[in-house]
Amino acid sequence: MTTIAQAVSCIDGYDPDALRVDKAAEAIRACLVPVSETELVPIRLAPGRILAQEIVPAIDVPGHDNSAMDGYAVRSADLSSPREVLLKQIGSAFAGRAFKDEIQKGQCVRIMTGAVMPRGADTVVVQEVCRAEGDRVTVPPGQKAGQNVRAAGEDLKAGVPVLEPGRALVAADIGLIASLGIGEVAVKRRLRVAFFSTGDELASIGAPLKEGQVYDSNRYTLHGMLARLGVEIQDLGVVRDDPAALEAAFRKAAASADAVITTGGVSVGEADFIRQLMAKLGEVLFWKIAMRPGRPMAFGRIGGAFLFGLPGNPVAVMVTFYQFVREALLVLSGAAGTEIPLLSAVSSQSIRKVPGRTEYQRGVVYRDGGGWKARVTGQQGSGVLRSMSEANCFIVLEHERGNVQAGEMVQVQLFEGLA
Ligand code: AMP
Ligand code: MG
Repeated sequence: MTTIAQAVSCIDGYDPDALRVDKAAEAIRACLVPVSETELVPIRLAPGRILAQEIVPAIDVPGHDNSAMDGYAVRSADLSSPREVLLKQIGSAFAGRAFKDEIQKGQCVRIMTGAVMPRGADTVVVQEVCRAEGDRVTVPPGQKAGQNVRAAGEDLKAGVPVLEPGRALVAADIGLIASLGIGEVAVKRRLRVAFFSTGDELASIGAPLKEGQVYDSNRYTLHGMLARLGVEIQDLGVVRDDPAALEAAFRKAAASADAVITTGGVSVGEADFIRQLMAKLGEVLFWKIAMRPGRPMAFGRIGGAFLFGLPGNPVAVMVTFYQFVREALLVLSGAAGTEIPLLSAVSSQSIRKVPGRTEYQRGVVYRDGGGWKARVTGQQGSGVLRSMSEANCFIVLEHERGNVQAGEMVQVQLFEGLA
């Protein structure tokens, strides 16, 4: 097995004391090994799971040419006249109840949306433009051959793969799979993720706050973020800044999880004894990342588990989670295509920014007239969790960028997606 040190040594520009965000992400990616075990699940339980098989249709969808409209199925050859044409209706075709005979020259069939095209017919004329009297149907000129017909296989073609392994399944995928008559699919097993908070100042919910204590919020934020990823969650509580307690917690977490997330204890004042502890337990790198918030971070491996040692500040926890851990957990889960889209918006205000680090300002993207603008949510301190709660996006200020003037374009990462 390659060590983490070996993997990161190949990364151009790797500097643990001033690590660019993109390099940190690259370093993490270089080390990750996705889970290999799979399981079969009913498709109803598959949204959010990572597909572990290729989906190859055994059938065409739709299985037959069929009508896209309510109207009349006709032979386009009968409509070559520049004037209206009189046809004889010889029957009706309903969805699920095909019309059996072939239509001949001068004939048509009344047809409903989804009904299989009768043999001989290649075109549907919508009912609104036709005039019917008894079995005589008058069709106006100007119809296009093949119009209003859905071709067999236009959605899915037998033998042509439609979904690849690594796909994080969304509702539309589940529908596609169902349209093939497939009821269960192979997915990667769920990733097991354990986490705990560290800090002597932390009180758990339910206990009264003593002098100088704060309630542990990080575990709840983490729980919320992990729940969205569909991983198995193991909450190991609060651990004191005590080497023996921390060692026991790390051992326990690493024994049962694929990934362990901790918060707190990686800042300069605290890192030393954690560093010694980590060296004893596994291989862990301590990074100073050129970002704000979230500068210190530890990454490594303890036993079979990858470790993400996040800073303690509540906003830094969320930023480092979204910028590094989320993607890493998806990759470990076997997902492909995990990048968060960066969109552009006009900054409605000036924003102070120092070149040489990537900043993740908490922002609100809002509609302004015809376009979308972004503004910062109030105070941006890394302990001000309200700045996250009020935000609907990160305003990502790139590494090299300096101050932003009002009216300049900025990049944003939206918190919410549809699927
Ligand atoms: P640390 O990284 O351990 O030095 O913590 C940095 C700051 O984050 C300190 O002000 C801590 O009190 C705060 N903090 C650490 N862990 C938590 C937590 N689990 N919940 C809320 N605040 C925390
Ligand atoms: Mg601490």
